Amino acid sequence: MSALLPVYRPAEPVFVAGRGAYLIAEDGREYLDFASGIGVNALGYGDADITRAIAAAADTGLIHTSNLYRTRPAAELAAELVRLSFADAVFFCNSGAEANEAAFKFARRWARQAAQDKIEIVALNGSFHGRLFGSLAATDRPAFRAPFEPLMPGVRFVPPGDVEALRAAVSRERTAAIIAEPVQGEGGVRPLEAEYVRALREAADEADALLIFDEVQCGLGRTGHLFAYEEAGVAPDLLTLAKPLAGGLPMGAVLLSARVASAIQPGDHATTFGGGPFVASVARAVLRRISDPDFLADVRRKGQRIQAALTALVGRGGVEEARGRGMMWGLQLATPAAPVISRALEAGLLVISAGERVVRLLPPLSIADADLERGLEILAEVLA
Ligand SMILES: *Cc1c(COP(=O)(O)O)cnc(C)c1O
Repeated sequence: MSALLPVYRPAEPVFVAGRGAYLIAEDGREYLDFASGIGVNALGYGDADITRAIAAAADTGLIHTSNLYRTRPAAELAAELVRLSFADAVFFCNSGAEANEAAFKFARRWARQAAQDKIEIVALNGSFHGRLFGSLAATDRPAFRAPFEPLMPGVRFVPPGDVEALRAAVSRERTAAIIAEPVQGEGGVRPLEAEYVRALREAADEADALLIFDEVQCGLGRTGHLFAYEEAGVAPDLLTLAKPLAGGLPMGAVLLSARVASAIQPGDHATTFGGGPFVASVARAVLRRISDPDFLADVRRKGQRIQAALTALVGRGGVEEARGRGMMWGLQLATPAAPVISRALEAGLLVISAGERVVRLLPPLSIADADLERGLEILAEVLA
């Protein structure tokens, strides 16, 4: 594997198969997966609906057509996302970063109708929106940014929770959009207070700017609601999705309200692969499962179980705080997370970090109760 560009430091096991909430390594060892491919494998491994959707989509022979031609799966998936959300239109792409970059372009296109200089994006400290030049410009991680500057200009950061700072940063003349993750993921699993989410909406409205929610990680059932914004009762103008959308196949999406969609003209943006019939068919199957109210109720129930188990760990083994929503949780440690993650791996449990001192848990939403309990037990033992 040494021919792979070393931008990652992957863990030792070489995985060859997956089943339910387990990954199976070359040596036959099974690992309980509380990382889900960074929140992608919401339905675990080997899910029958996904396997069936893949087989059926492959059987048509129609993997790709380009967006110069019409196909049914993307149109149906878009219609379903519209039906289930605040949105009136959907743009498909291939990743989270791409979705955010598209959202920035759409926001600028919309805002420029009012004034040529209305181009700024206001983002939050602790944010993560992707690794491309635009999405990275809105990502508050000096180490990710510094080697690649200059990034896209026109981004201002404000500390989450500080309404005064937000009001000072947002302006009618300059601001095109505010972007926020309702639950910050990479920044340490930090849910925004509902009150602050409402303040974001108000600040955007007062400045005639757009509100973008990046739900690439916290959306699509992860919080126990189909969309994280539902819990705060605040709808955005643009919403970005990716990670779990197509069951592990690469797909991103931007959901747009009618007023933003109406500013976009043919030719304003494009993608060769985005919304292809193969990935869209699989995403349709994933969305059908995740949007089922019983499925979401089950995520909330399992989320409460995780919350109880993690809250019981606070004050032990250097655990300072447990934060999260639904089945997206972070344990804030007094010490680096890496040794805990290594010990968990040795004990057969996959967990990941979110920043230096946070252990992040993103189990498959479909995980069986017994597997969830087993993983929480391993974690408690590892931290003891
Ligand atoms: C992962 C992530 C992204 C970037 O997604 P990629 O598919 O890796 O480009 C953007 N925003 C959030 C909140 C994410 O968690």
